[in-house]
Amino acid sequence: MENQGEFHLQQRKGRRVILFPLPLQGHINPMLQLASILYNKGFSISIIHTNFNSLNSSNYPHFSFHSIPDGLSQSEASFADMVALLSLLNVKCVAPFQDCLGKLLSNSVDGEKIACLITDAVWYFTQTVAENLKVPRLVLRTNSVSSFLVFAAFPLLREKGYMPAQDCEPEAPVPELPPLRVKDIPVFETRIPETLHQVQLGLINQTRVSSGCIWNSFQDLEQVSLATLQKEFPVPMFPIGPFHKYFPASSSSLLSQDRSAISWLDKQQPKSVIYVSFGSVAAINDTEFLETAWGLANSMVPFLWVVRPGLVRGAEWTEPLPKGFLEMLDGRGHIVKWAPQQEILAHPAIGGFWTHNGWNSTLESICEGVPMICQPCFGDQMVNARYVSHVWKIGLHLERKLEREEIEKTIKRVMLEEEGQEMRERIMYLKEKADICLKQGGSSYQSLENLINYILSF
Ligand code: UDP
Repeated sequence: MENQGEFHLQQRKGRRVILFPLPLQGHINPMLQLASILYNKGFSISIIHTNFNSLNSSNYPHFSFHSIPDGLSQSEASFADMVALLSLLNVKCVAPFQDCLGKLLSNSVDGEKIACLITDAVWYFTQTVAENLKVPRLVLRTNSVSSFLVFAAFPLLREKGYMPAQDCEPEAPVPELPPLRVKDIPVFETRIPETLHQVQLGLINQTRVSSGCIWNSFQDLEQVSLATLQKEFPVPMFPIGPFHKYFPASSSSLLSQDRSAISWLDKQQPKSVIYVSFGSVAAINDTEFLETAWGLANSMVPFLWVVRPGLVRGAEWTEPLPKGFLEMLDGRGHIVKWAPQQEILAHPAIGGFWTHNGWNSTLESICEGVPMICQPCFGDQMVNARYVSHVWKIGLHLERKLEREEIEKTIKRVMLEEEGQEMRERIMYLKEKADICLKQGGSSYQSLENLINYILSF
């Protein structure tokens, strides 16, 4: 365990916290990590979760799990229109959630007091339910503070004509939101643009009136954004991240992790391998998939590639690859469906991470000092990529069309050239900051103490 000596399991506090994760992998992981952090600080834990992407409770025998019917049909339970899915979940879960929470509040176990509810910030309908049932609601925002501020600025961006971009030069800076350019403004493909407006308003307004907000981030990483946030949102803020460094690699994966990735890495040279993964939702077309494959092959750099079933639109798995592709590489490439990512990034053989810049992946890379190649696909990923490449300067942004020569060149720049080494030095510095912030006296350590005292004060 990373912080042994400082992070002991504490005496039970006779208080229970109820958590409600959004049923997406990138939101489930940090919520269950937060649950473990609070459990180790002496709180009892109840988790309410939807049937959709239901959680595997067997990994957490010390928590109590309560499943609610989300009422999604098979066609509705799809990532194809993420905004529509989030909006629908916020409508369909109201009654079952209220019912479940009401029962938990009235049937307290062993006379334990229920201290508060912690929901994902995207579960915006829960604020009204919490107010009706008179339980304080804290929110967990699982993305970066910087991207949250961009979401909060959507009305302004609309007013100024950036959303949807009207006659704006994609490279032009957005003076209202440095360091963003027009093309870094989060994009969401959705059938009904008005839904995006609703979800954004729900997320921002219901965070503004919550009892506080918890962040999987840390002061030294997002100091400027945290200061702005504190000015613009008058609720207590608790940046206590990076969550996953409180424990050994966590186990809230919805897909089973292929451990052959680790045994393959064990045979590779230190810092020689590029790890490629675009997370749990992003998808590419088969042309992009083939360009990726040939870019990796032509770079001559060993690669470990997560090809999630569903990554390539219209394909089951890797069938668009030319026959014998991996065999031709003579062991220089390894493909899995899903990997133990935290362990992989911490493996000595890893030298770079080609990522979609989901916030968890970005933070996990920073915490292991692994420089990145950024290929954001949608939403907050665009903002994270801009910070990685332009503010922290710990990665290169693959900005042009996904094309094999460009990919090959970018991989070589990060893995083999001086500029990659410089990025590695800068990210190692941030890794040290991440380690320090969790130790006694560090900013996240202190913020967690504040959070515990705050929850006890309810
Ligand atoms: N992940 C994993 N195995 C994989 C790919 C990803 O365990 O093969 C985990 C990764 O460690 C991270 C999460 O899935 O914690 C993905 O979250 P992120 O915010 O990076 O992206 P999202 O999936 O939400 O787009």
